[in-house]
Amino acid sequence: MKKTEVNKLKVLLRKAKSSVIVTHWSPDGDAMGSSLALFNYLTKMKKKATVVVPNEYPEFLHWMPGDAKVLNHQSEPEKVAKLIEKADAVFTLDFNSFKRLEKLGELVEKSKATKVLIDHHQQPDGFAQIVFHDVKACSTCELVYDLIVALGGKKHIDKKIASCLYTGLMTDTGSFRFSSVTAKTHLILADLLQKGAVPNQIHEAVYDTYATNRLKLLGHSLSQKMVVMPEKHLAFISLTEDELNHFSYQKGDTEGLVNYPLSINGIKFSGFFAEMDGKIKVSFRSKGKFDVNKFAREYFSGGGHINAAGGKSDLNMNETISKFLTIINKPDFKVV
Ligand code: 5GP
Ligand code: MN
Repeated sequence: MKKTEVNKLKVLLRKAKSSVIVTHWSPDGDAMGSSLALFNYLTKMKKKATVVVPNEYPEFLHWMPGDAKVLNHQSEPEKVAKLIEKADAVFTLDFNSFKRLEKLGELVEKSKATKVLIDHHQQPDGFAQIVFHDVKACSTCELVYDLIVALGGKKHIDKKIASCLYTGLMTDTGSFRFSSVTAKTHLILADLLQKGAVPNQIHEAVYDTYATNRLKLLGHSLSQKMVVMPEKHLAFISLTEDELNHFSYQKGDTEGLVNYPLSINGIKFSGFFAEMDGKIKVSFRSKGKFDVNKFAREYFSGGGHINAAGGKSDLNMNETISKFLTIINKPDFKVV
């Protein structure tokens, strides 16, 4: 944590009367974990703070402490607009561009509040006055932990804050197995366990609460819809809205699906395409050097990290897949 930034934040927190914490569209475990950890910490420090999300997030993330106080911009647009207008500080967590907030981004961009970015994605836009950014951090939760420590708050990390932080560390590292995991990650985890986070309970809450249909959708995706191209070291899965409806799709049901092809020997690049909300949501994952952040930025109006990125396509499913096939069949395309 840069001392200059920590000092600027200390000054801001001393004078700020109200803070808003925002995170990206379709919040995941790291987005909600980091936002709620910061919310619980600020609240404990007697600071007024509110977490605002652009849209709904999966049921399996609703157990986290502080969840009941989260405001959803889609269901309460006026309340959120007023809150952001009045805020002295807006913390932007786990995203690098206002585009990731969709409509909520316009409100945050307009607001006169000091923006505090806490994020680990590549190439953040320069919208924040105070910046805590490290692409080497395994998760935004790792950065929030570091920040709380830098603010002198280590002693205030309790079971609630620890459980939120543990969740983001767990979900963004594929349960502590991606290349982003370091000795430091495990030292933080050890501290979180000492503060009261209970790993088996958190893993069960997030990973063992599936509806039967979610598992059936996974089976369908792998047995019927996965296209494997061993000579190109890649595989991809696509799901239409009809298929999702057939398996009574609930938000979050396709999370993690994109990782499965990477467990095939020799596959180093995986793609996932799903028809949702009138567009095609795109996800990419890789192992090793193939940069999916670059790929998603270049071809699918997205971005993310070197080994995990997402984006979207306004074409229909067939056209999107054709576009993808054209790109990967270019002579200079190579998965390394
Ligand atoms: P996922 O595939 O799980 O949705 O996202 C993988 C990573 O890419 C996450 O870190 C996420 O924040 C980022 N990401 C997902 N979708 C988009 C997008 O549309 N634009 C950008 N810039 N990043 C995305
Ligand atoms: Mn993250």
